[in-house]
Amino acid sequence: MEERVRAGRSPISGNTDLVHVESLAGKERVRMPSASPEDIGRISPTQWTLIDQNQLEPILRARAVEAGADVRFSTRVDAIEEYEEDEKDGAGVLVHVTDLSTGESSQIHAQYVIAADGSRSPLREMLGIGAHGRGTITNLVSFFFEADLTEALRGRRIIAAYVNNPEVRGTIIPIDNDRRWVINVSFFPEQGQRAEDFTEERCTALVRAAVGVPDLPLKIESVDMPAWDISARVADTFATRRVFVAGDAAHVMPPTGQVRARPEGRRKARRRAEAVVEAFSVLVLTGTGLVAGVLFAVAVSVMPALVAMSPERYVSTHILLGRRYDRIMPFIVTGSTAVDVGLAIRASDGPRVLFAAAALCMAGVAVVSQTRNVPINRTVKRTRPEDLGPGWRDPRPAWRGWHLVRTCLAIAGCALTAAAVVLS
Ligand SMILES: Cc1cc2nc3c(=O)[nH]c(=O)nc-3n(C[C@H](O)[C@H](O)[C@H](O)COP(=O)(O)OP(=O)(O)OC[C@H]3O[C@@H](n4cnc5c(N)ncnc54)[C@H](O)[C@@H]3O)c2cc1C
Repeated sequence: MEERVRAGRSPISGNTDLVHVESLAGKERVRMPSASPEDIGRISPTQWTLIDQNQLEPILRARAVEAGADVRFSTRVDAIEEYEEDEKDGAGVLVHVTDLSTGESSQIHAQYVIAADGSRSPLREMLGIGAHGRGTITNLVSFFFEADLTEALRGRRIIAAYVNNPEVRGTIIPIDNDRRWVINVSFFPEQGQRAEDFTEERCTALVRAAVGVPDLPLKIESVDMPAWDISARVADTFATRRVFVAGDAAHVMPPTGQVRARPEGRRKARRRAEAVVEAFSVLVLTGTGLVAGVLFAVAVSVMPALVAMSPERYVSTHILLGRRYDRIMPFIVTGSTAVDVGLAIRASDGPRVLFAAAALCMAGVAVVSQTRNVPINRTVKRTRPEDLGPGWRDPRPAWRGWHLVRTCLAIAGCALTAAAVVLS
């Protein structure tokens, strides 16, 4: 068959260029690398060629007839039944068909059936075989047009030009490398667009937008071709006992292969990463807010009360106050600092500086607490009643001063974290 296919190959079979463009006459964004004969040799015993489907199918049909096939057009499969044992034929498949030209129904007994009835595959449905995958990726209409694109092509011999601009998203494909072309244009039913809206006038405007020549002389050949879709779908199984699902009925995949799947995978991974960052943002806001709030409450309410107390009462109250506080706060302060650092590492430039500054402030809270207030707390805990005589050095002014320093740092840390989260 290879020789027959090559003999019937299309006039565009020598074309080499697959390009992504803003418009055919405009900017070329990407030129896809073409596969070398060695690359193809690794996956196929033959080399590739381009051939029009209208030319290929008669070659396939002739070969099938040569090999003994009975090819019946206008014949619809209405039902299909697998049976285990039949007196005459043993196990097999009974296929109910209708000749659509006469309306006559008949049955065909077969040992096996290959269901190759296209991507919508009614046979697959009759067999109860489901399909999985992303489903429809894009809806398209195609139409042929005649135009001289020599200037817009600038010497390129395109296999296809993928056009993407605000007015049109589609693919221009040559038919005869001269005047006949086909364009596949995407449309979006979810935005209320319909295949029926592609009137001759609209198709003319779309071709001109795709070619990038507003007054391009052209002729639209027909605008009544059925809409179709690019989808990714794979049958849940390729066979029952005696029926095999094949071709598009078994598997459809966009020409871009997994290229579309990867961004989807990346989108999922990014969504997951964003969810983690959001969780940590909530955590660090809670942490810094808690530290700033507690220190502020101590500064404006507890500290004035302690200052007003007699030395004896102050010492016993201070010891009581610090019991739980001293155990919990270091964890919250250190944890918030660590999360601020982590968020600074992954954030973009502006928020990164804010998260880093917040981390510094929270680290400052930890340093002031551990080197100033905590040693004073320890001294207060060790204080005996006899120490409270005239020689007693009241720690309250120093504790209060350092407490105000760490309160300011904590409030700054909380505000900077909040700003960084908002700007992220
Ligand atoms: C616009 C377009 C461009 C494409 N370009 C390319 C390309 O350049 N290269 C490439 O390799 N592929 C291309 N493809 C994909 C290619 O056409 C398909 O992969 C291929 O035709 C699948 O062959 P198939 O025999 O599995 O199904 P089909 O070609 O869809 O044939 C299925 C047949 O089953 C018939 N049928 C359905 N139901 C019944 C029933 N109940 N009883 C009897 N018969 C039934 C249908 O009428 C149809 O004739 C393109 C597809 C489209 C839509």
